[in-house]
Formats: sequence, C-alpha cells, structure tokens
Amino acid sequence: MQGFNKYYPPDYDPDKHTSLNAYRGKHALGDRARKIDQGILITRFELPFNIWCGTCNNHIGMGVRYNAEKKKIGNYYSTPIYSFRCKCHLCDGWFEIHTDPKNTRYVVVSGARQKDEEWDPEENGGFAVHDTEGKQSTEDPLAALEKSTAAQNHMNQVQVPRIEALQDLADHYGSDPYALSRKVRKRFREEKKVEKEKQAEDSELKGRYGLPEELKLARDSKETEEQDREEWRRAKRELEERESAKRRRLDVTRTIPVQPTKRLPSSSRIASAARSSSGQPSAAELLRARILGNTGRRKPTGS
Ligand SMILES: [Zn+2]
Repeated sequence: MQGFNKYYPPDYDPDKHTSLNAYRGKHALGDRARKIDQGILITRFELPFNIWCGTCNNHIGMGVRYNAEKKKIGNYYSTPIYSFRCKCHLCDGWFEIHTDPKNTRYVVVSGARQKDEEWDPEENGGFAVHDTEGKQSTEDPLAALEKSTAAQNHMNQVQVPRIEALQDLADHYGSDPYALSRKVRKRFREEKKVEKEKQAEDSELKGRYGLPEELKLARDSKETEEQDREEWRRAKRELEERESAKRRRLDVTRTIPVQPTKRLPSSSRIASAARSSSGQPSAAELLRARILGNTGRRKPTGS
C-alpha cells in the first residue's frame, strides 16, 4: 500500500530515497501499476457493445465493467492504439479489445465475438455508405500516370491562368491607392449630397401631411409619373361612366310615373291612392320627378 500521508520516518534520507513512494518501494498508482514493468496499467474498462464470450459462450451486455489490462500496442499517426485485456466474469477466459482510431471505434481482437449492431442506413431507408478511398487505383501504374497528367493539365490550363488574372487585378488596384481613394471619396460625396437633398424633401413632405417619420416614400421617376398619369385617366374615365349610368337610371325612373299601370301592375296602395283615376300623374309625383331630374343634372357639373 502506498503512503497516503506525509509522514517521514526517522531513517528517511531524501538524497538516498528521493521520494516517499520510492522509500516504501511503491508506485504512485499503487496496485494498479503492479504490471507497469511490462507496460501494463490496470484500468476500469466498460464494454462499448454487446459481446459473446468465446470461452463460455455467454452473452455479456454493453456497459459491464472490468479491471482491464491497458497497454499501448502501436500508433495510428500520432494517436496511440491501446489494447484492453479483460477476464470474463462468468468463466476464466480472457478477451481482448483494441481501440481503432482510424474508424473511431473499438474492435474485438480475440476471445469474444461482437454482436453486430451497426446502424445500416441502407437497411433503414437511407442511402448506402461507400468507401470513397479508391483501393485498386493505386495498384494500376497507368491509371496513376493518367491521374497525375490530368492534374498537371488542370493546373496549367485552369489554376495558373486564374492565379495570374487575380495577381493582375491585385496589381491594378494596388498600384495607386491614393488616386483610387480620392475617386471613390469624390463619388461618395456627390451621392451623399443628393441623398441629403432627398431626405430634406421627404421630411418636409412628412411634416406637411403629419406622416410618421419611419414611413418610406416612393421616388419619383419618369416611369412612375407616366404610371400615375395613366392611373388618374383610368379613374376619371370610370367615374364618368358611373355618372352617365346613374343619369340614365334617373331618366328611366322619371318616365315611370307617365305609364304606372304598365310598369307597376301591383304597386303599393299609397302610390295608387296618390294617382288620379284617369292614369295621369298627380302633382306630388310630378314634383318628385322634377327634383330627381335636377339632382341628376347637377351631379356631373359638380365633380
Ligand atoms: Zn466467459
């Protein structure tokens, strides 16, 4: 057992023992480091998937934890590959699981079988996933040569001219920044002046009609002016048509009292009482027709 406190015994010599753990002959990691001379550290390892033990053939569920012997067995680029050696809790068999940094997963190497529960998109209505890294192309020297030639051609015909064009453009704009800046600022000032005038006009208009500040006003142009004029003419024409139709209607109503028996066979009792027995319009009806005629005539002149 390694020391947990800082008690320094009387025979402890810092020059000789260097540390308390060394004085006691223990590793700082204690019992977990009992096989450290073989490069093995005991760690707690949790099964990342369901497996069947190869010795007792029992099913062991995902998430079962073991005191595994962890050992570095290699590298994938700079990422270490670790091996975890676990002893089955149902028998005395050992199984070994490695990390697989290339595919970011774990693989069972020996002593057990992994339950295949990989998600297959094709099986579940998705698209199949294919290995996009060509395997056979590297073995064919002619194909490799063709590929490199195509790449060379692409570089000469597409990439180099494009880079040169970009370089020319950069030279063109970078040659005289002062003159360019002056030109741009001059144009900006002119635009700003026009914009300011427009703004002043707008605010004046808004103030006159009590319109909200944030209202955006449409700009006048030849086209919109023409459209407005056209719209005005159309509206005027419509109004005139409406008026003339109304006048015609009024003329019709004015003629009704002349022959009331034909047009209104079952008119109201009041109307028939007001009418004289000979079929001639009464004085009240004549007056009504005259008033209606007057209003009908006055309307178009007033508009
Ligand atoms: Zn077992």
